[in-house]
Amino acid sequence: MLKVCKFGGSSLSDAKHFKQVKAIIEADKDRKCVIVSAPGKGEGERDKITDLLYLCFQHNKYHVEFDSLFERVEQRYLTIKKELNIDYPIENDIKDIKDALKAGEMTEAKLVSRGEYLCAKLLSAYLGYSFLDAKDLIHFKFDGKVDEKKTNEDITKAFSKVEKAVIPGFYGSYPNGDICLFSRGGSDVSASYFAEALDAYLYENFTDVSGFYMADPRIIENPLKINEISYDELRELSYAGAQVLHAETIIPLMEKRIPLEVLNSNHPEEGGT
Ligand code: ASP
Repeated sequence: MLKVCKFGGSSLSDAKHFKQVKAIIEADKDRKCVIVSAPGKGEGERDKITDLLYLCFQHNKYHVEFDSLFERVEQRYLTIKKELNIDYPIENDIKDIKDALKAGEMTEAKLVSRGEYLCAKLLSAYLGYSFLDAKDLIHFKFDGKVDEKKTNEDITKAFSKVEKAVIPGFYGSYPNGDICLFSRGGSDVSASYFAEALDAYLYENFTDVSGFYMADPRIIENPLKINEISYDELRELSYAGAQVLHAETIIPLMEKRIPLEVLNSNHPEEGGT
């Protein structure tokens, strides 16, 4: 019996949020499969790591110096590691990434995926969970669609060998091993594939809002919360532009009717949708 939990970038933006995430995970022994986004914007953080990595790639491509940009990425992870005393040499991974980029050995997708990769490495060490690499579990065909059969089989196999794991969201690999990304916000979709393959009884999606509201809270003051919504209504809302979840999130969940709960990692007690 397990739940799949996905934490978005705003839920992992800094050490304080890592701590909150740890408390949430440790509050329920069924939270055994954890999918993460790259650290995003937060109280003291202006940038999403993913955006900075896209920028680094473009700078390097046009031979514009990118050291200071890359250092901003590096500092985010080093600060989290230091403030939480995480015993994992993340600096080595970061150095390898930078060296490979300078040597022209990184595709854009690979570089950008490192935001999630580094985040999962740190969180798994912090929680004492295993780390599983999404490149070995989420398989894309060359047409960019997910190979559901292979993905399902490999996720199931991997989880027969570990009890609890953290996995980077947002990417997988092509049959030749190259990294392939979902579209932006795609960690939501990664987590759905895990929920489906592992027969999770619940997929908890932790973000920075306590679920869906009847109107955009940035435009309408205190809109009412929607406690329950059908898959079809949710899909319509997402395609219509509600920015809470990636529009494709529910596709892998529908057949097995796996319930999805959208929760706020800052206020999990509020409940969600
Ligand atoms: N980090 C990626 C993005 O910013 C993917 C995700 O957060 O789901 O789009």
